[in-house]
Amino acid sequence: MLKLKNVQSFYGKIQALKDISLEIQAGEIITLIGANGAGKSTTLMAICGVQPARAGEILFMGKAIHNLSPHAIVGMGIAQVPEGRRIFPYLSVLENLEMGAFLRKDKSRIKQDMDYLLDLFPILAERRHQAGGTLSGGEQQMLAISRALMARPKLLLMDEPSLGLAPLIVKQIFEIIKKINMENQTTIFLVEQNANMALRVAHRGYVMENGRITLTDLAANLLSNEAVKKAYLGL
Ligand code: ATP
Repeated sequence: MLKLKNVQSFYGKIQALKDISLEIQAGEIITLIGANGAGKSTTLMAICGVQPARAGEILFMGKAIHNLSPHAIVGMGIAQVPEGRRIFPYLSVLENLEMGAFLRKDKSRIKQDMDYLLDLFPILAERRHQAGGTLSGGEQQMLAISRALMARPKLLLMDEPSLGLAPLIVKQIFEIIKKINMENQTTIFLVEQNANMALRVAHRGYVMENGRITLTDLAANLLSNEAVKKAYLGL
């Protein structure tokens, strides 16, 4: 579904991505783990066209997307749950969800999808008329995920969904990630510093250090890899 080939990205003269290559198959949950500043967010921003690749190729379902605008990329079926959630604070929960469906042409199915998501996140159903900015951190994360899903993406990019959330909420969020993948066949690319949780839900993983992919394997193998355990799992 997605292929990055030798992607390079720069902030001015600083090279944040150094020949990144990775592949995601349809139906997979793939995680990208790494320390602060490794280049994980930049990888996601390169895919969605916000921080364009200066060299290399990004193919989505066989089509080159590295020269397309973020708007065109969303239109092709890639949605992102950004780091820090960034919901619309003054819009209600329902209005936030409607914004997620903005580019959809199949208007008749929007209501049905909204009902499905309100079922998936009962707390959002309870708070449907409340302004997004008044929700707790965990609820805002649920709203950000639901809003992205309202676009009916083929590929969902998630940047640190666990950031700043209490352990119990983190557990719920990861359960939902698994459910979304299984029930809707949504392919998920999950960037996380919480390597332990991410590797438990993912099928495969990539490890990133200083702008390079240094290791890739089945998630189960990465969980038992001594170097990964020491560097990222605190074991
Ligand atoms: P984090 O978990 O902290 O978000 P990350 O792995 O997502 O880290 P990136 O945010 O992609 O890492 O950063 C990769 C590198 O690019 C870092 O060295 C960072 O300092 C640099 N960088 C990121 N954003 C910018 C920017 N807007 N301007 C200049 N340098 C940046």
